[in-house]
Amino acid sequence: MNLIFLGPPGSGKGTQAKLLAEKYNLLHISTGQLLRDEVKKDTDKAKAIKSYLDKGQFVPFDTILELMEEKILNASQGFILDGAPRNLSQAQHLDWFFDKNDIQIKKVIFLSLTDQESTQRLLKRAKSQNRSDDSPQVIKNRLKEYHRQTKPVVEFYQDKDLLLKIDASPDIQTIHQTIVKKLS
Ligand code: AMP
Repeated sequence: MNLIFLGPPGSGKGTQAKLLAEKYNLLHISTGQLLRDEVKKDTDKAKAIKSYLDKGQFVPFDTILELMEEKILNASQGFILDGAPRNLSQAQHLDWFFDKNDIQIKKVIFLSLTDQESTQRLLKRAKSQNRSDDSPQVIKNRLKEYHRQTKPVVEFYQDKDLLLKIDASPDIQTIHQTIVKKLS
């Protein structure tokens, strides 16, 4: 089973993807985490990536592809993609890539949350996880990018009849159980 998670920053994509990956023994591929791991290295590429993350801007898709394509192809039990696609051109490219490699996506899980709730959660996370992109100004940018670029991806998958819209405001376990029920 292959799944994609969509949703605004702070909607719990990472948490829910992790729980679901454990339950169904799927590979959790978080593009944000792959980038944060890459940034820890002392390379020019790491510095370049960091400058995008610190501003809340999208990292060039070539870099993302380099980090994730092999993981997708090696996920023999299936995968959960968390963090991509983030705009229409990424969605179109991935569509082509999945087709070419005979990969089927079962569902695209869209975690829906208001901007106000997203912001509150991200500010709370800033204190506990110390992520450099969880400052108020960067959060604003990330939400702006989400509306401008990622929202059309929701429609893209709705048109393909793959979208599973989930209210992301309840607690973690309630959301998890709702997703599990809707997938079965
Ligand atoms: P996330 O952990 O999904 O919130 O991602 C953190 C940051 O990583 C984002 O604000 C972007 O700067 C970058 N990022 C993650 N995934 C992508 C992607 N698919 N395309 C471009 N940038 C990305």
